[in-house]
Amino acid sequence: MNDLKPITLPGLDTARPLIIAGPCSAETEEQVLTTAHALARKGIQIFRAGVWKPRTKPGGFEGVGRVGLEWLKKVKAETGMFTATEVATRAHVEAALVGGVDLLWIGARTAANPFAMQELADSLEGVDVPVLVKNPVSPDLELWIGALERIYNAGIRRLGAIHRGFTWVDKSLYRNHPYWAIPIELRRRIPNLPLFSDPSHIGGKRELIAPLSQQAMDLGFDGLIVESHCAPDTAWSDKNQQVSPETLSFILNNLIIRDMNTTTENLNELRRQIDKLDNELLELLSRRMQVSQEIGSYKKAHQMPVLQAQRYEEILERRARQAVELGMDREFMRTVMQAIHEESIRQQMKVIE
Ligand code: PEP
Ligand code: MN
Repeated sequence: MNDLKPITLPGLDTARPLIIAGPCSAETEEQVLTTAHALARKGIQIFRAGVWKPRTKPGGFEGVGRVGLEWLKKVKAETGMFTATEVATRAHVEAALVGGVDLLWIGARTAANPFAMQELADSLEGVDVPVLVKNPVSPDLELWIGALERIYNAGIRRLGAIHRGFTWVDKSLYRNHPYWAIPIELRRRIPNLPLFSDPSHIGGKRELIAPLSQQAMDLGFDGLIVESHCAPDTAWSDKNQQVSPETLSFILNNLIIRDMNTTTENLNELRRQIDKLDNELLELLSRRMQVSQEIGSYKKAHQMPVLQAQRYEEILERRARQAVELGMDREFMRTVMQAIHEESIRQQMKVIE
């Protein structure tokens, strides 16, 4: 995807962070226009509102449908803002484009479904419109990249990704766990892909919007998509995670935006230290693997099995506890030790075969 373009629109100021804001759902003409005018006064340039809402269960508010596109047209005419909405089917894409929507996004439930993604890609063939693809609900980077590739293959070049967090099995502070390693890896794999964060859907609560936005900025995200409603407490969907335009403006004004390109001499020195430590880590790991091979030979000579589950659990537990004492995360250390153990077993198998 070397020829991707930034998310530009004629007249859009693309300084980082690019902000997309607006209600979860378009509810009434009045709610849409009141919110849009308030956001425009705060300098927001792209207005979002869902007119078709994917709901987990039937019977909830499923969006106002096409009439909402008329309200978005009024937003554009009255405020000069660009508009954005979620599309999930060919019919949505066609209606949104005819309705003059400037930017389309694809929701997390849709991004998880390759058939739906292909239908959307086919309907975007030959169209030049910016498209943002949310991460699929499951923490599956390949599925996310696959969804992006389908849209790219349809010819869309103003393509971007929205990180909105993932469904999680464990109890979590978040509505959708951010699992930052996935967007970070996406950036490594496709460095020129514009990356937005959606702190509203990650956090699920108003008070998490500011810290999550700051985290996204610190990680070099290009923009944010935030839910903002003129009367958040009365919102028809996602009311706990929407903020008023005034609160949003306060949050944005307090963000610290660090320049991603400046590297001072001190930072270079710290990076040299990291490189040196990484070298030492690798040498140590390699020595550990050599010992593993020797253990493999011993087990072979004595006809012992390679995997000794009890010893393995002891290693994991002991190191996880030690990691906590050293100020590191217990789960992090279990993951590291599991990976090392897996490679050890592979080395031992080599000797035994
Ligand atoms: C939304 O943006 O309102 C939405 C439905 O988000 P997601 O697809 O991330 O759940
Ligand atoms: Mn929402």
